[in-house]
Amino acid sequence: MVTTPANKCGGLQDAGPGTNHHREITEVSVDVRQLLEGFSKAMYSTWFYYKPDRLLLDAGEGVATALGNRVFGIERVLLSHGHIDHISGLPTLIYARTAGMGDVEKPLTIYYPKGDFYVETLRDYVGRTHRRLTFELHWMPLEPGDSIALEEEQKQHSRRVVTFPTQHVRGRLTLGYHIVERRRKLKPEFAALSQAEIHALVRDGQRDRLMQDYEQKLLTYLGDTTPMHTDQFHNTELLMHEATLVEPEDVKYPVHSTVEEAVAVAAHAQPKALLLYHISSRYRRDQVEAAVAACCAKHGLTCDVWVQYLNRLWKVNEMMGNEEIG
Ligand SMILES: [Zn+2]
Ligand SMILES: [Zn+2]
Repeated sequence: MVTTPANKCGGLQDAGPGTNHHREITEVSVDVRQLLEGFSKAMYSTWFYYKPDRLLLDAGEGVATALGNRVFGIERVLLSHGHIDHISGLPTLIYARTAGMGDVEKPLTIYYPKGDFYVETLRDYVGRTHRRLTFELHWMPLEPGDSIALEEEQKQHSRRVVTFPTQHVRGRLTLGYHIVERRRKLKPEFAALSQAEIHALVRDGQRDRLMQDYEQKLLTYLGDTTPMHTDQFHNTELLMHEATLVEPEDVKYPVHSTVEEAVAVAAHAQPKALLLYHISSRYRRDQVEAAVAACCAKHGLTCDVWVQYLNRLWKVNEMMGNEEIG
């Protein structure tokens, strides 16, 4: 990735080609507010509660405080890696599940990258300091390519989580997560049939001959990562990509992504929506907005772009403002 000031997207004012198309596709866009509640500030805390499947993506400081009794809704915690800003909310979360007003016997499973020293140290701390948990707590190490069934595999529209390696810290396993849904569609060779002909064949018991199973990625979460040039994020509905730095010249170490790098990954992946998070608190909201708009124009990204900054979630261009975000 080029990181010279001349190549940052900040100076571009025109929304560029694709703006009209952007408007046309908004009716099929993803309403991120319906799906997620979260908090994110680079180096301090990042967590997202994915409501449809009761998954907590990372568990930074303050997650239990923010969710309150809704901590009892969480069924699984998916940790991308063991840096403190992604795991420090866990002890309070676990304690709240034993002492709060809710189902204190509801089991909880915490998934994490296999061999992560920080997570395993926290696991040991919790084991020694929370000896009498009221619920079953499971710690499950994961490797790239692992799959976790979220419901019965046979069920139509069943969902699973699939892991993949991210590129955050050299020599250490860090994971991203896809949430994948099993769906059925008409086989292409029957595309020319009319609705009436299809209904007739289905009534005739030929549904399985007509239909094929496929998997749709609903969400792809990358935790912390440098940009990854791969096809595996293709067509995910919601791509969640970190964007620690707005100004390319602020990059000191190659462990995170810039707004432009995240937008470039999304331009290749073509999601329905992109959510940027893990943004450094050195930037103001208007700086983030301007960089996102300019980078989208430069890379031809036409999907909705959302930003999670602290506890605020907004869609870029939905409501332009110049308020401070720090
Ligand atoms: Zn982080
Ligand atoms: Zn990190």
